Amino acid sequence: MKSPETIGNKLKSIFSTKEISLSEEALPTQLTVYPSTIGQVCELVKLARKNQITLFPLGGGTHLFSYGKKFLDVSVSLKRIPSDLDHSPADLVATVPAGMTFSSVQEQLSKNGQMISLDPPHTNSSTIGGIIATNSFGPRRYRYGTARDCVLETTLINSKGLAVKSGAKTVKNVSGYDLNKLYIGSLGTLGILKDITFKLFPIPEKRVTLAADFKNPDKAVKLTADLRKIPLDIESTCITNGVWNPSGGTNWTYFISLAGGEKAITPQIDRLFSIIKTSPALNCTTLSSAESNRFWKVVNQTYPKDGNNAKITVIKKYLKSFFNSIFPHLTQGYSLKIFPDSGIVYIHCPEDDDASEFIKNVIGTIRTLGGYLEFELLPRESTFERWPILPSSLPWMKKIKMALDPEGIFAPGTFVGGI
Ligand SMILES: Cc1cc2nc3c(=O)[nH]c(=O)nc-3n(C[C@H](O)[C@H](O)[C@H](O)COP(=O)(O)OP(=O)(O)OC[C@H]3O[C@@H](n4cnc5c(N)ncnc54)[C@H](O)[C@@H]3O)c2cc1C
Repeated sequence: MKSPETIGNKLKSIFSTKEISLSEEALPTQLTVYPSTIGQVCELVKLARKNQITLFPLGGGTHLFSYGKKFLDVSVSLKRIPSDLDHSPADLVATVPAGMTFSSVQEQLSKNGQMISLDPPHTNSSTIGGIIATNSFGPRRYRYGTARDCVLETTLINSKGLAVKSGAKTVKNVSGYDLNKLYIGSLGTLGILKDITFKLFPIPEKRVTLAADFKNPDKAVKLTADLRKIPLDIESTCITNGVWNPSGGTNWTYFISLAGGEKAITPQIDRLFSIIKTSPALNCTTLSSAESNRFWKVVNQTYPKDGNNAKITVIKKYLKSFFNSIFPHLTQGYSLKIFPDSGIVYIHCPEDDDASEFIKNVIGTIRTLGGYLEFELLPRESTFERWPILPSSLPWMKKIKMALDPEGIFAPGTFVGGI
């Protein structure tokens, strides 16, 4: 491992002393650079390649997972690069600099009544680059899908220090391999995202949220299949308990929001009510606009700061078996957040021996049913691997990394299977 002085001396050929600092404690790197131009980023990558310096693309720093272990050399923050978004309202398209925060982008787009369809957590601090690199999403996934459905074009600084574009600013835009899809969720291991072009959506005129309590999650999940059969303008769905349930108590609350034009939405509220009434829901209420804002915030923006937080992907038809297997072992202090339409379940549990045993069982269940588990938070001394279930495509992923970053300068050792 090179000393910060050795690395700092090399960086001085590109950066002023004001653009280089010792990294904050939470970062995996020794130094952080704050380039003022993209040209500096390109030069940095060339320097890193020549001198075997490892780089960590840095956004808002909300998804780091490094516990302050300094195993990489230089974090690269794009936040000081002067940049504006390029918005074409008539085309419903915007190109956004990767270093901008999500909330500032949404605010600017909203002036023309438009939005990026993603609703990730940490909107005030997370950046567009970080959201795409982590494939972050929220309850609106029900209607709009994920980043893979709304990213049209990316510009990436590759391992040769060149800015390369993939895709185009139009829908149905890719000839050949769709490299955008590769960068989404790649955690900065294939290059530094410079800007991203999104397909936009109009902000719905009206949003109404209904909340229904259930005794167990399985019955709530079944309701989703019924909802899909009926033409309702549903935008968001999420089933929560524990820390993610703003209603408190031990029930499982299903939050569903309708969104669209006022005239279309109002009659659909009664329709949705009547469908929920035919399910085993214990109750159902329509939330006021203030309640709805507050509730979705708890559902989507609450992040436990300690313990274990696992994101689990279960094949949808096995969700019932999954719940049957884990339900008897859930105890007080465990929380679940379920995106029923996609089979994604978040589990948070504290740091103790019982929780470790519980997680081992969950991993065993996922191995049997098929699916994946990724820890988004682990206790510092935990013996669990961040990705305990490796995909069978891992050898191909290693080849892709080798082809796109042969010297291993971009965040080596931070991705699935140690990539
Ligand atoms: C405890 C916890 C729970 C979370 N739960 C959820 C959840 O339930 N659902 C969900 O969708 N998301 C979840 N996230 C992820 C969250 O949304 C991300 O924290 C956020 O989107 C990352 O944005 P950021 O700007 O802070 O990136 P950072 O935290 O700075 O970086 C995150 C990753 O993105 C890479 N990166 C950042 N910028 C770039 C760039 N310009 N080019 C290439 N790579 C880049 C980094 O190298 C790093 O690997 C969770 C995160 C945490 C910490």
